[in-house]
Amino acid sequence: MVPDAPLPAEEVERIAADAALLCGIPAPTGHEGQRAQAVLERLRELGLEPASDAVGNVVCRVGPPGPALALCAHLDTVFPSLEPQPAVRDGARLGGPGVGDNALGLAALLAVARALAADPPTGPVLLVATVGEEGLGDLRGVTHLLDAEPVRALVAIEGHGVDSLAVGAVASARVRVTCSGPGGHSWSDQGRPSAIHALVSAAERILAAAPPAVANVGVIEGGTAVNAIAERASLVLDLRHVDPALVEQALGRIERAARTAPVAGIATAVEVVGRRPGGDGTVSAALVELAREARDAVGLEAAEEHPASTDANAAIGRGIPALGVGVSRGEDAHTEREWIAVPPIAYGAAALLGLVRRADERIPV
Ligand SMILES: [Zn+2]
Repeated sequence: MVPDAPLPAEEVERIAADAALLCGIPAPTGHEGQRAQAVLERLRELGLEPASDAVGNVVCRVGPPGPALALCAHLDTVFPSLEPQPAVRDGARLGGPGVGDNALGLAALLAVARALAADPPTGPVLLVATVGEEGLGDLRGVTHLLDAEPVRALVAIEGHGVDSLAVGAVASARVRVTCSGPGGHSWSDQGRPSAIHALVSAAERILAAAPPAVANVGVIEGGTAVNAIAERASLVLDLRHVDPALVEQALGRIERAARTAPVAGIATAVEVVGRRPGGDGTVSAALVELAREARDAVGLEAAEEHPASTDANAAIGRGIPALGVGVSRGEDAHTEREWIAVPPIAYGAAALLGLVRRADERIPV
């Protein structure tokens, strides 16, 4: 086994360079193909045999066949633009939309691939760059992976969050509420019901009905012009709690809240457009212990442990041990100002490698 130590400077720079390169390849959820191709080519250059699966994940088996330790980093970003936005290096910082979430996670996955290509694992390992982790992707990639491959444990790799471990999974549901009506001219058709007016009042009732689930209306859209009565308006709501049962109960209340106080002439549709399973970290206890040990061995402080929403959710929902780890620290994820610090990669990526070696040896096939 490779000794536990922070990574040498040239390996850190290599990871940062890979993160910069991958960050510059647009990959909105549903359009991950170009970035997937870049990851696939880099894995091939290492002499490994990656393949694209039916949903667009890049999957690369290392070691023998059998129930694998799956290492996942998501390909997609929350940014809808298909224009390349190259990462910018400024001293110890690397900036760019999606640089930490999750170009750096992918770059760390490639670092693990290099280590395993040089010194193969004893058990089966799957290196996976997943599609559909963000937004309404609904964990499409990792869900397909778990349907297709036997997995004994799963580690989700994120660029941000080296000071924490994602232990346990926050369950979520995404709900679209759409109001539609006849529309018309704002003056000459005055008095007709507006889809926007109806939606705004429904939004207030919906938000009041959500607790104890945490609710966020992240998108609201509709209408055609300032002087037109809106024919159609919709919102998309994100609903979360660690206890999946509380999310389901909130869903029921929200459906009722959306439909109470109906406006004549306005139809309201409520549609669940995404669901992420959740659960506490009990099933992952042994894996979490290995992650703690690997951090300690490279000199990282004990992590803050909290539930999160990552590719690990899909595994935890099926009773497969899983957790999420970070590679560095930075700020402003999910904004255009996002950045990550380069030096902590030496520790975060080393702890990841240590976790992989430990899990390979100690999580039974
Ligand atoms: Zn992410």
